[in-house]
Amino acid sequence: MQKRFFLSEDEIPTQWYNIQADMVNKPMPPLNPVTKQPLKPEDLFPIFSQEVSRQELDMEHAWIDIPQEVREMYTYYRSTPLVRAYGLEKALGTPAHIYFKNESVSPVGSHKLNSALAQAYYCKKEGVTNITTETGAGQWGCALSYAAKVFGLEAAVYQVKISYNQKPYRRSIMQTYGAQVTPSPSMSTKAGRKILTDEPNNPGSLGTAISEAIELAMSTPNCKYTLGSVLSHVTLHQTIIGLEAEKQMQKAGEYPDIVIGCFGGGSNFGGIAFPFMRHNILEGKKTRFIAAEPASCPKLTKGVFQYDFGDVAGYTPLLPMYTLGHNFMPANIHAGGLRYHGAGVIVSQLLKDNLMEAVDVQQLESFDAGLLFAKAEGIIPAPESCHAIAAAVREANKCKESGEEKVILFNLSGHGLIDMSAYDQYLSGSLQNFIVTDEMVNDNLQKLEKFV
Ligand SMILES: *Cc1c(COP(=O)(O)O)cnc(C)c1O
Repeated sequence: MQKRFFLSEDEIPTQWYNIQADMVNKPMPPLNPVTKQPLKPEDLFPIFSQEVSRQELDMEHAWIDIPQEVREMYTYYRSTPLVRAYGLEKALGTPAHIYFKNESVSPVGSHKLNSALAQAYYCKKEGVTNITTETGAGQWGCALSYAAKVFGLEAAVYQVKISYNQKPYRRSIMQTYGAQVTPSPSMSTKAGRKILTDEPNNPGSLGTAISEAIELAMSTPNCKYTLGSVLSHVTLHQTIIGLEAEKQMQKAGEYPDIVIGCFGGGSNFGGIAFPFMRHNILEGKKTRFIAAEPASCPKLTKGVFQYDFGDVAGYTPLLPMYTLGHNFMPANIHAGGLRYHGAGVIVSQLLKDNLMEAVDVQQLESFDAGLLFAKAEGIIPAPESCHAIAAAVREANKCKESGEEKVILFNLSGHGLIDMSAYDQYLSGSLQNFIVTDEMVNDNLQKLEKFV
């Protein structure tokens, strides 16, 4: 009846897993929006560190060494526990064996540090002194601010203005680590000045913040931009989650029938899923992989597979992805980390090839599951993670009906201790669902130019 499974420091994996090398159908290439030519790593060097630019487009190497300096920092909080959710199983009365990987124990409270440390390290190694990024609710901004401090870099974070005002504690965390935090849109960039001139009360969005962060990186010497999800190198760094879980499941003497992650851009889902999916691809195992997205931002379940921009302003390369259109404005749900219009290129290809499944979860169902989990296991989950829990609860309830003892593994991507205003709303009964229909998605996509 062991509850938690750990790895000793010397059992922590020393390489990340690059699923692109093993995929039979590779992701289609990102394109230069002007020439429509496939991008080469060099094309990304002006914005990103060279090493992550190479990782982004690497279709060859299945295993990539984790630098010693990053491994050392991983030991500050890794291995994260793999936990058998006996409490949740009991609350549900299910014969299923439910496990979760607890990424909420990282110093910043979410999985995002796994990639922030890697990205900051490569920047440092390449002589970069300053890094920029955008953040919405603030989880990525917190992770990057800490990683910058660790490797002696200056961090400038553009935080969506409405979140900057509504989520003061994440701003305080970033400032505690020494980052400079600017509400976006701001007067500090051309893009920000233009937006504010046209619309002085613009509340900001990830789109405005990305534009400002990229502009600062392009116009400042020795400064690079970093991103917290969507791109393939971010998911690569997150595979540490699944690689650890694989060894921990061995210690538990089980192998998952179903692996579940919540879905924003795909990095925590890919992080826990890809190391197990490898065995489906190479050895014909039959594990199911389920991405759980919010019903208010349903790119996987209602989006269309096509080339689209990664940001609202259209500054990024064109990416082949399941998308609602880069002009899609998701409702203001509490799972801020899941409010993104598209899916990363790897996950998009895998979904197209039926190597994984996707489900959508309404906001109320996600919090129903989150409260059930909190009461049964003691941990208050992030609103994003509640979507993964809801999908796990659905599968566990199916097992209850069929009597099957399936092994379900989900990723607890973060804790919700800084999101208690969302729980307050749920408890007071004022939390809402949001409906997005196929028709709304089609109308939105029709407004966009077809790129390829
Ligand atoms: C950012 C975030 C997510 C969503 O991002 P992915 O790239 O899809 O993993 C999920 N959970 C938490 C706690 C987050 O901070």
